[in-house]
Amino acid sequence: MTAIHIEPRPYLMRNSVQQYEWGARDGEAFIPEFLGISPEPGRPYAELWMGAHEKAPSSLDMDGRSVPLTEVIRARPLFCLGSDCLERFGGQLPFLFKVLSIAEPLSIQAHPGKEQAEHLHRRDRKHYPDENHKPEIAVALDYLAALAGLKSSPDMQRLLAKHPEISAFLGGDAGGAVEDVFTSFLRKTVSHPDEYTRAVGVMAGRLAAKGRGYSLEESLFLHARTLYGDDDAGLFALFFLQPVQLQPGEGMFLGAGVPHAYLKGTIVECMANSDNVVRVGLTPKFKDVETLVSILRDGGPADVLRPVSGAGAYDYPVPVTDFRVSRRSLAAGDRWAALYGERPEVVLLTRGRISIRGGDGQPATFSRGQSVFIPAFLERYIVQAETDAELFHVTVPEQ
Ligand SMILES: [Zn+2]
Repeated sequence: MTAIHIEPRPYLMRNSVQQYEWGARDGEAFIPEFLGISPEPGRPYAELWMGAHEKAPSSLDMDGRSVPLTEVIRARPLFCLGSDCLERFGGQLPFLFKVLSIAEPLSIQAHPGKEQAEHLHRRDRKHYPDENHKPEIAVALDYLAALAGLKSSPDMQRLLAKHPEISAFLGGDAGGAVEDVFTSFLRKTVSHPDEYTRAVGVMAGRLAAKGRGYSLEESLFLHARTLYGDDDAGLFALFFLQPVQLQPGEGMFLGAGVPHAYLKGTIVECMANSDNVVRVGLTPKFKDVETLVSILRDGGPADVLRPVSGAGAYDYPVPVTDFRVSRRSLAAGDRWAALYGERPEVVLLTRGRISIRGGDGQPATFSRGQSVFIPAFLERYIVQAETDAELFHVTVPEQ
């Protein structure tokens, strides 16, 4: 391995795109347009990853060659991460930042807490590749339609009254706390698969006869059934979850054990550096009902985060110390002195053009769709907006 020569200055990141099936394609694909490239026909552009996850690390241009950020951090951990971050998280960039462009619903999932993740990883490395927890925040770029958290008890009783197939399938388990009913339901899809498939067929027949005036959940049920078949537990599970709509700039935090499914929209997402997902339905992938039940938390519906305005930026407060996300709008000519001290940072430009002056070098110019890694040893820098601009900033907060 050649020695890595890193300086205290901003580095342009080269990021990889994940082609998950639910990603937007062709004329609707946001990510290629954002990156200024033309989409390959028919190819889904689902996620853009900015960070140092082993599965798809970003790369930095160094001395004319492209070096994975994982490798840069391994070679120069203190320089990249700073002493506080290095001490708290080991030689890992603690967060992973993404852009998601969602055309089709994602699976119904929840993420384990730290201890649960360690346990799952020991037991099943294939399906749980990380030891880390995966709290996440989503912030809408245009909008986000999602299901997040369980419905309230009155809403769930209304849903059972409206959909007799679900209450009939539940039988005697239809009363009690929402998470207990949801747990019984999930277990029964495993213990009584034929009964479940029949109930799904009955509901599909009733809705087809009705023909119109579908609720969000009913439309989703009918659509997902054509994609995943009648035995997918998500077809009924989706009715237990609370619909959420985010407007541009609004965010949502999902802590451990909160079941959720993103349905449609374009967002940025930040999470702890992990890819641990426990899925129960709306997916052809590996489903793990018992594990989801074991991590399910009585979270109620997820809270919409209205950003907190202060000093020209909108901050998205989250109850974890792995990452902190803020959004900042700059008018042409505005200057912003960034002073986060000795910690790693990522800046993503979502509108306009900026220059960043830091260290001894010339100011470097960045434009929409580009992201920048700021190593911890660049403790302060000046951002100058060359046009109206908007950026997202991610760093590791003090503990
Ligand atoms: Zn998730």
